[in-house]
Amino acid sequence: MKTFEELGIGDSILKAITEMGYEQPMPVQEQVIPHLLYEDTDLVALAQTGTGKTAAFGLPVIQRIDIKNNQPQALILSPTRELCLQIASDLADYSKYIDGLRVLPVYGGSSIDSQIRMLRKGVHIVVATPGRLLDLIERKTVYLDNVSTVIMDEADEMLNMGFLDSINAILSKVPENRKTLLFSATMPAEIAKIARNYMHNPQEVVIGSRNEGAANVKHVYYLVHAKDKYLALKRIADFYPNIYGIIFCRTRRETQEIADQLIQDGYNADSLHGELSQQQRDAVMQKFRVRNIQLLVATDVAARGLDVNDLTHVINYGLPDDIETYTHRSGRTGRAGKSGISIAIVHVKEKGRLREIERKIGKQFEKGHVPTGTEICEKQLFNLVDRIEKVKVNEEEIASYLPSIFRKLEWLSEQDIIKRIVSLEFNRLLDYYKDSNELDVPDERGRKDGKRGRDDREGGKRDSGRDRTRAAEPGFARLFINVGKTDGFFPNNLIELVNNNVRGRVDIGRIDLMPSFSFFDVDEKSAHRVISGLKNCDFFGRRINVEIAGEKKSEGGRRRKPSPESRESYGHSKKRSYNHEKFSSDKSKKRASSKKK
Ligand code: AMP
Repeated sequence: MKTFEELGIGDSILKAITEMGYEQPMPVQEQVIPHLLYEDTDLVALAQTGTGKTAAFGLPVIQRIDIKNNQPQALILSPTRELCLQIASDLADYSKYIDGLRVLPVYGGSSIDSQIRMLRKGVHIVVATPGRLLDLIERKTVYLDNVSTVIMDEADEMLNMGFLDSINAILSKVPENRKTLLFSATMPAEIAKIARNYMHNPQEVVIGSRNEGAANVKHVYYLVHAKDKYLALKRIADFYPNIYGIIFCRTRRETQEIADQLIQDGYNADSLHGELSQQQRDAVMQKFRVRNIQLLVATDVAARGLDVNDLTHVINYGLPDDIETYTHRSGRTGRAGKSGISIAIVHVKEKGRLREIERKIGKQFEKGHVPTGTEICEKQLFNLVDRIEKVKVNEEEIASYLPSIFRKLEWLSEQDIIKRIVSLEFNRLLDYYKDSNELDVPDERGRKDGKRGRDDREGGKRDSGRDRTRAAEPGFARLFINVGKTDGFFPNNLIELVNNNVRGRVDIGRIDLMPSFSFFDVDEKSAHRVISGLKNCDFFGRRINVEIAGEKKSEGGRRRKPSPESRESYGHSKKRSYNHEKFSSDKSKKRASSKKK
């Protein structure tokens, strides 16, 4: 892999991007930077957002600017004002150490007069939405004769938004001998046509594969009855307490309804759609960016302007009509090297569409199992315990209240206090899910994929209950791992984790998947290599923890053998400072009694 320097990036830009934490070029940068710097041909790059494409075109564009020439030399077209502002801001960061370089974003919805004033003062790079730029061209307030590079970013989005005519008009106004670069996440026929009409022998680079979603996105579908879609959505949100995602709906009305219901049901959600004013949309997007909102319910069009890199989930509340839209939706997670999950909550009639999407994106959907009430309560309980463990205590502020608090709680034991704190939040969920049913619709396809329908799964649970106590085969060691079926963890994921993270040959024996953790056998010689290789690995946002099954650190750091029940109850967490056995046996009693009902 080459360095930025080897790709031809000069010192001032290098200094700026090093400060921004860019150490190595990303693949799209390795391909595009030398092309823009040294080649004469045009380029079509198929790349998703989040792959580093802004720097891929931005760095060489900046480097080629002649500061002494005060006219626009590069034109960057983007579908939305938000992306336009984002690109302009990135370019300003990259050119921090280049004196006098001016980048101007021009977009609709803000004063055209001040944009004209800035243009008159002289700018080197114009970043524009097509409609506003065309307006400026028609008013003869922007001079494009010195433009030597045109970048079309998210070209497929520009077409989706109806900018084809504007793009054609703009391209006919820039000098013929310019260099043109087109970025698109997908390759519909209209893009190929633009390339044919306005580009000179364009070379094509593909980052990832054609029409494929981001490589590190896992696609999961949940099959439910149409009437249960909203309930399934809530369960998924409950099962991932740290979810940060967009829920895509098809219509404005559905978007508003789902958002209203979620808010009413106590979720940290809001809506984003075309019936809101620009000001309202800006406010919602800003709240979502800074994570004041955890779940954003949005239409495809309204969400276009939103550039957020670290979504954990994208939820398709029903499938979109066209596959490109699915690619865009799912490409909003799994960005910048992170992993993400694209969920489709579908009812039986939508199932056929899944196959079409799979064919197009070249990836298979996994069948997800809608978490049961018990699984959700368990997950939330441990999330709460984790938060209690990690919360920062403001010793100074709290000190003066502590004596009276301690006095008031004096009569309670340490364990009682813990139970009460946890119950404050836990009771609400227990109540809600008390009599809840399973929502999964059994699915032949899911069975074929190796995942089971409802009846099988319950059978599977009983089997695995026995397996938990099973010893490893001779010559093998049995390991515990803190992810299970409801995390979407299946044998192929385990094998992939081991292959990617553990050096040398490992023989994997029997694998037993539980809902929220699993056991697997490996040859004895490899056991410790596997434990250290998988330490701190990440499985779709969960930090992996692997231990020899049946071993667990006691408070003093020595090892003792927990009962299988306490392992089940504490599968999620490592260190605790209260009495495990007591708490877990209470819990298993509760389980036993709820089964009897
Ligand atoms: P983009 O696809 O341009 O939206 O970039 C996605 C994210 O990756 C942005 O947050 C960039 O700041 C970041 N990024 C781009 N290039 C690099 C790099 N070479 N090293 C680290 N981060 C990068």
